[in-house]
Amino acid sequence: DPSVAPAELLRSPLLEAHDGVGPAEGLPLPRALYGAERPNSAGADPTCLDSRQPLATAIATTRLDPVPLASQADVADAMQRLSQGWAGWNHRPVDERAAVLRRAADALEVRLPEFCGLLVKEAHKTLGDAISEVREAVDFCRYYAQQAQARLQPQELPGPTGERNTLRLHGRGVFVCISPWNFPLAIFTGQVVAALVAGNAVAAKPAEQTPAVAARMVALLHEAGVPADALALLHGPGETTGAALVAHPATAGVCFTGSTAVARTINRALAAKDGPIVPLIAETGGLNAMVVDSTALPEQVVDAVVQSAFRSAGQRCSALRLLCLHEGVADGILAMLRGAMLELRLGDPADWATDVGPVIDDEAFQNLQTQIARLRREAALIGETPLPAGTAVPRLIAPVAFELSSVAELQQELFGPVLHVVRWSGDPAALVAQINALGYGLTFGLQTRIDSRAERLAAQARIGNVYVNRNMIGAVVGVQPFGGEGLSGTGPKAGGPHYLYRFCAEQCVTINT
Ligand code: GLU
Repeated sequence: DPSVAPAELLRSPLLEAHDGVGPAEGLPLPRALYGAERPNSAGADPTCLDSRQPLATAIATTRLDPVPLASQADVADAMQRLSQGWAGWNHRPVDERAAVLRRAADALEVRLPEFCGLLVKEAHKTLGDAISEVREAVDFCRYYAQQAQARLQPQELPGPTGERNTLRLHGRGVFVCISPWNFPLAIFTGQVVAALVAGNAVAAKPAEQTPAVAARMVALLHEAGVPADALALLHGPGETTGAALVAHPATAGVCFTGSTAVARTINRALAAKDGPIVPLIAETGGLNAMVVDSTALPEQVVDAVVQSAFRSAGQRCSALRLLCLHEGVADGILAMLRGAMLELRLGDPADWATDVGPVIDDEAFQNLQTQIARLRREAALIGETPLPAGTAVPRLIAPVAFELSSVAELQQELFGPVLHVVRWSGDPAALVAQINALGYGLTFGLQTRIDSRAERLAAQARIGNVYVNRNMIGAVVGVQPFGGEGLSGTGPKAGGPHYLYRFCAEQCVTINT
């Protein structure tokens, strides 16, 4: 592409300071980026500073109460109660249902420290991630309340023959919401309140790893005004509790976030049922790539890579898994990345200075260890974060990066802080074609200063969320509607203007006046 300036003319001042070949191996990035103050989204925010003391107290006093597992009889009872309760809730005016969500948002905001405590203790979230997650849950409540009022009101349609036509949206019945452990408050709340505000009753089944935060949120929703017979919480494994809910004859829709494999299982179970055709909303995984060309700003690339690949210990569907570096700039960027990785701090999630906390459970830990051992044998190590000496914190996986020889070598999503890197040259459209061929379509990063290229490649990518010259995680409700296509899910996008429609049934009433 003649509009691309040669890589060597575009080196940043940081790289130039080191004879134009990039910082010495392992040299940390400037303090302003990864400094002793460790500014991050939490620390930089005055509201968070104000909440340090209540947060510390909340974490110290958080108790994870045991939850009762639902038996098959509990599932049957709950579904019966919800089937009976649904109509009453559905017939409430949408403004009333929206008001309940707003009350929940207000309560959740006030109880931020308590919910952060639960997220840190139960899901091992870092404090920064916990605060962001509570805010996201608050945003979901307020956004879907506003969307419901804007979009779910009856609509008068043209009556060319003199008849009166009205289009109405209402709930479908009992919606089953099955949510993951990686956003045990935000995704759980987003699914449940969307289904509720659209006029459904909800049977919610949270991930087995994170029942306590879900239980506290359901109690909050009931206190905010969701009737007991419009929302039920059922704890248990997907294979039994989840399967029983999906198979139940009263289930009118399923909203699922989790793995592609489980989404397929649910889809098959729904297809095999007699009775009504039941819709599935699925948001699943990704093999998310970032393409960096030779015009990209190296500091920006490294900052975006560290955030996208390693924040939340890589346990986000949106996380970066495959970094594709133009061969003209790859060595310089990899040297900086190596340095940045040395600077990351692993440790106790309740410590403000921690960048990367533990992974969710022993199974995830063992699986990641096995996969990293395999990569150590099969791929070239680029860099890794040192494990803190003598740490008592269990299940820490050190961020690590490996170089692969081709895009196609990346076959499975490793749900942890493991980054794969490939080098590319030639036509970036050919690279995007290879990324499309992976079949997933959740997030995609582009780092280029050529606007026309960004537009072209974004249009070519069959991927739901494209981020140019920034990190590729942390989609904001109502700002970056989130969700993918292909193996990454069915849509509609969570936190977007079309989400609520999929939870609704439509009715057109024609009156011959
Ligand atoms: N919405 C989150 C983000 O943009 C990811 C959600 C997920 O991991 O499922 O980072």
